[in-house]
Amino acid sequence: MQEILIKDAGLLLTMDGDRRELAGSDILILDGKITEIGKDLITKGKVIPARGCLVTPGLVNTHHHMFQSLTRAVPAAQDALLFDWLKVLYPIWARLGPEEIHVSTQVALAELALSGCSLSSDHLYIMPNGARLDDSIAAASEVGLRFHPTRGSMSIGESKGGLPPDSLIEAERDILEDCIRVVDAFHDSAEGAMCRVGLAPCSPFSVSRELMRDTALLAADKQVMLHTHLAENDQDIAYSEAHFGCRPGQYAEELGWTGPHVWHAHCVKLDAGEVDLFARSKTGVAHCPCSNCRLGSGVAPIRAMRDAGVPVGLGVDGSASNDTGNLVAEARQAMLLQRVTRGADAMSARETLEIATRGGADVLGRPDCGRIEPGKCADIAIWDISGVDTAGSWDPAALLLAGPMRVRDLLVQGREVVRHSQLVTLDLPHLVERQNRLTRQLMESA
Ligand SMILES: [Zn+2]
Repeated sequence: MQEILIKDAGLLLTMDGDRRELAGSDILILDGKITEIGKDLITKGKVIPARGCLVTPGLVNTHHHMFQSLTRAVPAAQDALLFDWLKVLYPIWARLGPEEIHVSTQVALAELALSGCSLSSDHLYIMPNGARLDDSIAAASEVGLRFHPTRGSMSIGESKGGLPPDSLIEAERDILEDCIRVVDAFHDSAEGAMCRVGLAPCSPFSVSRELMRDTALLAADKQVMLHTHLAENDQDIAYSEAHFGCRPGQYAEELGWTGPHVWHAHCVKLDAGEVDLFARSKTGVAHCPCSNCRLGSGVAPIRAMRDAGVPVGLGVDGSASNDTGNLVAEARQAMLLQRVTRGADAMSARETLEIATRGGADVLGRPDCGRIEPGKCADIAIWDISGVDTAGSWDPAALLLAGPMRVRDLLVQGREVVRHSQLVTLDLPHLVERQNRLTRQLMESA
């Protein structure tokens, strides 16, 4: 039995059903779960002092491609739109292997952890040179974040009219067999699970209609979630209309890709009918505002989605289209971007933080995460608001307006992952050195 007490939190944003904000509260944690919230609680276990701090649920990242942390700021891809950006990067990604997947995943997760993220999905849609989903799962278990890896895939290469080079695609039968293997080996459906596997063809423009449909059927059979990219930009919509004769929302619906077990990344170009479809079917959206800005894709209609009842979470997206992976900065960007198109009252700091915590947890099918209340997983971020960046702030809960942009302490399942703004589960300087060595090798062979 491991007991931890977070003591005297300056302000606690619970994100519970009433969105209570509590001053001077303690949080008692036993064996990875929150057991009690109140004043003057006592423990025989470890005490983490939180006086003067803001305490929130750990942030939730609903979309990422962690392998891309090896290809940040690649010069030829810095100013390209999505399809051209992909064409620059695909040949580089084709040279990755198991070690690259392992190291880059740890770098991406470390970066997320330092920004207050306790639960992240990952969309690994290339398996070059013997790389497997297993490599990213092993990497995540060492970092200590709660992890939702998705087994991605691409099956339509250049020779068949698709976008990726033939060297990066897999046979559809092999993809489905490996989906079954990784779900059986790693998926944990239990409450409090540290690893849940999802199935995730890369996008409608890189796999066949049959693979989209068969993946949905397999996910239903295995009771796991489905994820892909959808309606990311105008080119994406044009491709759908030219090749499938319909908009992305209709394509998704016809192939079994709507429902509470499905979440789509981006959805920048969903029209009003598609927003209504997602709301009715409770299909989730991973909103990735920095990537949408970086690739010039547009502004996703998040205000309209939230008003209609679409489940929305946040994602940093892959490290090659952001090119950072700071989730609290991503949340700030989400708040600012809605204001660009809808005015200063379009999205508050509190609502955006709710999307970044409880919202993301719900999108990933994790009502046991993303809120601080008895019985929920002890995934908790403690923010030091005594620094220069927040000096003079009148409202500590407005984290996304005044910062800070780095967490002080992060607990995942009641275990410390970040302490005093340092990762405690891994030797971070050594990890960065390994990543930079691998990046140099990729640059030299380019
Ligand atoms: Zn993506």
